[in-house]
Amino acid sequence: MGWPPTPADFARLRETLAWVYERSPYYRRLFDAANVRPAALRSYDEFRRCVPRTAKADLVANQRAHPPFGDFLAAPREQFGSLHTSPGPIFIPRLPEERGGTPVLKEAIAAMGVRPGEVAHVTLSYHIMPGGLRLHRAFEEAGCLVINGGTGASRLQVEVARAWGATVYAGTPSFLANLGDTAREMGLDPRRDLQYRVGFSTAEALTPQLRRDLQEMFGIELFDHCGEAQIGPLAGECRVHEGMHLHARDLFCEFLDPETGEPVEPGGTGEIVATQLGPRALPLVRYAPGDAFRLLPGACTCGDESLRIVFVGQVGVIKKIKGVLVHPAQVHSVTRTFPELGRFQIVVEHGAGERYERALLRAGTVRAPSDPERLKKALADKLKGTVLIHMDVELVPETEIPEGAGPPRFAETMVDRRPKH
Ligand SMILES: [Zn+2]
Repeated sequence: MGWPPTPADFARLRETLAWVYERSPYYRRLFDAANVRPAALRSYDEFRRCVPRTAKADLVANQRAHPPFGDFLAAPREQFGSLHTSPGPIFIPRLPEERGGTPVLKEAIAAMGVRPGEVAHVTLSYHIMPGGLRLHRAFEEAGCLVINGGTGASRLQVEVARAWGATVYAGTPSFLANLGDTAREMGLDPRRDLQYRVGFSTAEALTPQLRRDLQEMFGIELFDHCGEAQIGPLAGECRVHEGMHLHARDLFCEFLDPETGEPVEPGGTGEIVATQLGPRALPLVRYAPGDAFRLLPGACTCGDESLRIVFVGQVGVIKKIKGVLVHPAQVHSVTRTFPELGRFQIVVEHGAGERYERALLRAGTVRAPSDPERLKKALADKLKGTVLIHMDVELVPETEIPEGAGPPRFAETMVDRRPKH
């Protein structure tokens, strides 16, 4: 489905909600308490206003209280086909007919230009977590010959990929770098002796630098993908490489303003809230993993009309400053391009009698800059181009910035001194 939802998307959602209400004790209780009768819901807006969200913590607490699966379940144990575990641990049983994320992955694989008959080397873990097996099934369904590489054993993996002439790599970008280093240690040239043509990059951030390094090392075209442990794969890049197309066929995805809960238009940044569509052993309704995405406006030149999204970061540290949602990771993408800079804080103030809010970036320096004024100006200009608001810049020794402000959590990065309403 797309975003914003069409009446047909909403009709499919309502059908699922009625199915879940009949079978899942947890959701029946939740809907009854909120006075929600799925069959009586008339519109997406009504759904958004009335149906409560499910947080990861709700699922974990419920499974702890009613081990092992909790009472989210909508099917008896005898009907389960398999069982996945995600970090927590959270136990996710699956019905044999549940296709999970496989159709989404097949679409993402097709968007990379992978052809039937190609040899795909899958290096995600096949143990306990669903990632490796799910990707393996998707490549098989796409007509590829699939190598179940899994993790570790780099030398053996290089030998197998070389022997089979693997043209598709699938896994984390850091493991691909590891395979390249290993190949060189073995006296091989990753470009000449390995045949990787395209790479499915997932489960880790693919930074511009890492992408360049890997393309240089292997002559490979990498495609970034993202997903979430419980709701599965979500989106992937096409050959244009401008954002990831939302491939969520069996998910009703909402993108909501983290502060107001209102739907976000393309161009804005929103928190994802997802409802799984169709029968599931363990259904999730309005599941909110806490991830924020920027929605790219306009159509992609590849011809695929689905929404394109860019992962921004965890929603907890996002602040609205001067009307714009700012995530520390966006600011970090700017500061990291200056070798003099380390951790930073963003101080937001709205002084009494002042008309506008003020944002101050306290940038920690790891070594003395040769021209501090020039650095401050260059930083402010680049920030304006990235986060779209003006920030004053102050340079301080990095030791003045708390360690908790560092990536990837940025827990103490945002300092909000605005009066509370
Ligand atoms: Zn595209």
